[in-house]
Amino acid sequence: MGILIVGTITLDTVQTPTEKVEDVLGGSGTYAAVAASFFGNPVRLIGVVGADFPSTYTDFLQTRGIDLEGVTRVQDGKSFRWGGKYTDDLNVRDTLFTELNIVADFNPVLPDTYKDTSYLFLANDPPQLQLSIIEQVSNPKLVVSDTMDFWINEQREALEKTIERVDILILNDSEAKLLTGESNLLHAARAILRYGPKRVIIKKGEHGAISITETSFFSAPAYPLTEVTDPTGAGDSFAGGFMGYLASVDDISEGSIRKAMMYGTVVASFNIEDFSINRQKSVQFSEIEARYQKLQDAVQF
Ligand code: AMP
Repeated sequence: MGILIVGTITLDTVQTPTEKVEDVLGGSGTYAAVAASFFGNPVRLIGVVGADFPSTYTDFLQTRGIDLEGVTRVQDGKSFRWGGKYTDDLNVRDTLFTELNIVADFNPVLPDTYKDTSYLFLANDPPQLQLSIIEQVSNPKLVVSDTMDFWINEQREALEKTIERVDILILNDSEAKLLTGESNLLHAARAILRYGPKRVIIKKGEHGAISITETSFFSAPAYPLTEVTDPTGAGDSFAGGFMGYLASVDDISEGSIRKAMMYGTVVASFNIEDFSINRQKSVQFSEIEARYQKLQDAVQF
């Protein structure tokens, strides 16, 4: 089944305690699309880049089989740029700058061939843009969105309208608390369900992720890793792997959602082993399966 992903395609500057990289390929759409591309479904990406965006980056996305018909290059515009700096324990990140540039005025019109996509993932992007994509897709089987502190703080009203229309909202623990004002994650999840989604998935970094509906609770562990190089994009990779698996089995039952969370966890675990999407370039699906198996063994009791 096809997956449509809308998200940012960016130039990132990332500083960890030991290294700094500048203008590397990043973006919520990039990470999610690369992660989803492991599962063998057609992946279509909607986004915008500027004149300054290296064609080697878009070429790489194409080598992953990602369809870029929905990616616009604005010849007189600057790409979205983001900078972040990690503290010593790599769990805490400060955003140094967010330059929306061309993303602020991006109003995509979906190619006709994209409109019947079954699996829609709205990665981090302006909430109105996410909503406009929901409105253009004809009859999706599953609509999942992500959001982050930037949009909760800057465009809350628009964000609430978007959240109302999605089946699953994925966000991290601090964002769930920020969005709802609740300090207990279960209370926060219940409050989010009242906005409209049928399910909320809360990512807790190195402590895994939980899924909550009105009638179910599931907790997935994080994959145990001793060497983390750069956590940037872990959340987007989780979501991309999650969508990739669901589209590959074309099933959104509780059982498949749980397996999809495990696959998302595994794909994210590879992503954080190097900067940008560098580690993903060499990952084989057999390695994903091996880590999935290890994760499954880790929760047998
Ligand atoms: P994550 O580590 O999952 O929060 O994702 C980081 C990626 O999201 C980076 O590659 C950034 O370029 C991109 N990003 C940062 N801020 C935003 C934003 N406000 N909207 C969309 N994408 C963003």
